[in-house]
Amino acid sequence: MEEIWGQACIKLEQSVGPNNFNHWIKPLRLTALDEGVARFASPTRFISDWVSRHFADDIMGELSRHGQQVERLRFEVIPQEAVQPGASGGKNASRPAAVARELNSTGKAELGAPLDPRFTFGNFVVGKPNELAHAAARRVSEGGPVGFNPLFLYGGVGLGKTHLMHAIAHDYQQRDPSARVLYLSAEQFMYRFVQALRESTIMDFKGMFRNVNMLMVDDVQFIAGKDSTQEEFFHTFNALVDQGKQIVISADRTPAEIKGLEERIKSRLSCGLIVDLHPTTYELRLGILQSKTEAFRQQQPDLQIGNGVLEFLANRITTNVRVLEGALQRLFAHASLLRREITLEVAQECLTDILRTNDRKISIDDIQRKVAEHYNIRLADMMGPKRARNVARPRQIAMYLSKQLTNRSLPEIGRRFGGRDHTTIMHGVRKIEELAGEDLGLAEDIALLRRQLEA
Ligand code: ADP
Ligand code: MG
Repeated sequence: MEEIWGQACIKLEQSVGPNNFNHWIKPLRLTALDEGVARFASPTRFISDWVSRHFADDIMGELSRHGQQVERLRFEVIPQEAVQPGASGGKNASRPAAVARELNSTGKAELGAPLDPRFTFGNFVVGKPNELAHAAARRVSEGGPVGFNPLFLYGGVGLGKTHLMHAIAHDYQQRDPSARVLYLSAEQFMYRFVQALRESTIMDFKGMFRNVNMLMVDDVQFIAGKDSTQEEFFHTFNALVDQGKQIVISADRTPAEIKGLEERIKSRLSCGLIVDLHPTTYELRLGILQSKTEAFRQQQPDLQIGNGVLEFLANRITTNVRVLEGALQRLFAHASLLRREITLEVAQECLTDILRTNDRKISIDDIQRKVAEHYNIRLADMMGPKRARNVARPRQIAMYLSKQLTNRSLPEIGRRFGGRDHTTIMHGVRKIEELAGEDLGLAEDIALLRRQLEA
């Protein structure tokens, strides 16, 4: 088994590049191979998550090439000491070696997460939906007098928030190699904070955070409702802003929409620039597919993609870029394993499962449930006769979303709302259109619900 893995590693190093290989794949140890499942020991959850998201197809492809039919990867987190007995002790003993190595080699981000070398501005395709976010990110990465602090990026899953943040960090660091840039997810922030509390190293923790030139916290919605983490985040945030240090934050919604986030944090977050990444358009998706195909072709010049395949994918996979990329990766793996042109038929066959989930239609049920939950009313009130405004308004919003997001006719929608007449539905839809034009809060509510339903 060791031999198989050793050989696969040689190939993997070539296919993913030495940086990626050393960083992500080398720390893994193959522990078992049976019934189509390859099991690995990984020093951290972070590494295994990353590998399964980015390199699973490469690894399965390589193992399969060595005669092992592998259909799934499984990871077990075993801290490095356990993987390599006799690792050095000391203060950082509990920190997994792979992460420690990353941190020491830069000598900086003692608390941060590693940056993905592929998430650069050069690899980011700009289109209408993301041009504002991209421009803001560019500006921040140039450093200098800070125009907007914090920069708050928000948008649905897989639209490029993390990519842009890493790109800012790369760029900023390149311009000023001595700058201390700290990137981490809000979840990691909390984890480190709790760890510092437990180990009574809170002063070190504070010191390290207060000492950076740029702090980037990804997916900040995670700390909503986690009071003491928020408190600490708020102090860190204030200290840095007061020193004129740049902060970049991302979330899946606007500060105002994050429930359970303290008001003072919301207002502080709103002081900077808030920009959103809109859902992708067909043109952007096609642009991304073309650019990734070009990049792949650099490594594998004989890659053949048939006419209309990229257009087909851009048309059919509309949820998010991550899924789009996954589909493309799979096609590439297929092409290089079989050494065959990827025609439209091959693509359809190879991606049946992805295409199927992307066909998943939003149902009126989903909409009613989501809206009821959002406004804290009972689902039964969606169908029921109550006319009180606090019930009638959400019901109309659900009618409106049903009209917008499904192909159902007005009479059909009427039936699903307790047998109402189609004119009632039409009235509800118009009412919401009208109100959303005047009431910004309502318009934002609807946008949020829409994003959540489409995610
Ligand atoms: P988010 O953090 O918003 O959930 P990510 O930044 O992780 O999304 O993006 C998901 C994947 O899609 C990443 O692999 C990223 O490189 C890719 N991606 C997203 N937007 C673009 C874009 N405009 N150009 C190129 N790749 C993109
Ligand atoms: Mg992200």
